[in-house]
Amino acid sequence: MTLPGQNRFGSETGDPLLLTPGPLTTSKAVKAAMLHDWGSRDPVFLALNRDILAWLPEIVAGGADYVAVPVQGSGTFAVEAMLTSLVPPGGRVLVLVNGAYGARARRILEIAHRASVVHQTPEDTPPDPPAVARLLAGDPAISHVFAVHCETTSGILNPLAEIASLAARHGRSLLVDAMSSFGALPLDAPALGCTAIAASANKCLEGVPGLAFVICEKRALVAAKGTATTLTLDLEDQWRALESTGQYRFTPPIHVIAALHRALEEFRAEDGVAGRGRRYAENCRVLTEGMRRLGFRPLLAGALQAPIIVTFHMPRDPQFIFQRFYDGLKARGFVIYPGKLTVAESFRIGCIGRIGPGDIRAALAAVEAVLAEMGVALPLPAAA
Ligand SMILES: *Cc1c(COP(=O)(O)O)cnc(C)c1O
Repeated sequence: MTLPGQNRFGSETGDPLLLTPGPLTTSKAVKAAMLHDWGSRDPVFLALNRDILAWLPEIVAGGADYVAVPVQGSGTFAVEAMLTSLVPPGGRVLVLVNGAYGARARRILEIAHRASVVHQTPEDTPPDPPAVARLLAGDPAISHVFAVHCETTSGILNPLAEIASLAARHGRSLLVDAMSSFGALPLDAPALGCTAIAASANKCLEGVPGLAFVICEKRALVAAKGTATTLTLDLEDQWRALESTGQYRFTPPIHVIAALHRALEEFRAEDGVAGRGRRYAENCRVLTEGMRRLGFRPLLAGALQAPIIVTFHMPRDPQFIFQRFYDGLKARGFVIYPGKLTVAESFRIGCIGRIGPGDIRAALAAVEAVLAEMGVALPLPAAA
């Protein structure tokens, strides 16, 4: 069925391109993989699921010590499953916060009645390793460190290797939200000493939303029996059921899993993390250079910018009205994302999903056209 307004734009199905943090533009083949109705005991479906669970840990060099535990739902379900399944009642989590996703982890712990300590830095500032070291040295009750790899709120790349080495040196478990980096930025779970990494189908793996997962160190998962605060998000129970019966405990999102299987085939064909990371880095470079040429100012310095999503300061020109900018881009086939910062007025443009540098160049041309339509003079004046 073709809805009005479809089949006009740059994606393979003619929909507007999603330059957002997720859901993202997916390939036509990924969407076509969903054109089946399989029962949850269907052998074809079970084989696809087995492949996925075998492939996911390989992306983070998991080896035999790690397993992937799928969680039905969006990415937050996996973060909540990780925290509430692996942090025991007497545990305490040092949560590194520099954006909405770190803050959300703290809220999850609070609701689950798990103790936390927060190290907060502004949204454009990574956590401070010496301060983290002092907190760990001064508080032996801290059992876990929680870090967000790429904090999608701003697009900042947090210094995971430094955080991991501090956690390891102090003998604490490391839990990572790698939602927006998994599959695009190298992550070596055993080398970092990660206890668990949470991510989802619908960001850099270019699947559709509806399945998230936690890559867990097997021995931490075994030790987590009986720890979970909920039935549905109990990672150990979910894993046991899959191990012993091959079945999900509750209805699996069959179509989403079939789409993820196809998406992972495309990921592997693109040379995995290396290839995907290269494409996104090029998207990010073309985007940032093009926007700078028009006078837009990125929030982050290059060294802090992950090639995932870029935050730009809102222009000061009174002719610039964000809603008109957004609508004008949408009408030309590009969906961008409002800012989520508390420190500055901003908007975001994503570099991930089934898009390439040519799509980004087309988006830049659309930006220029919409600015002209609004009567905004170019280049934008440099801000004071
Ligand atoms: C997208 C994202 C999540 C999960 O968001 P959902 O909307 O639940 O899929 C969590 N953490 C980070 C860093 C993210 O980018």
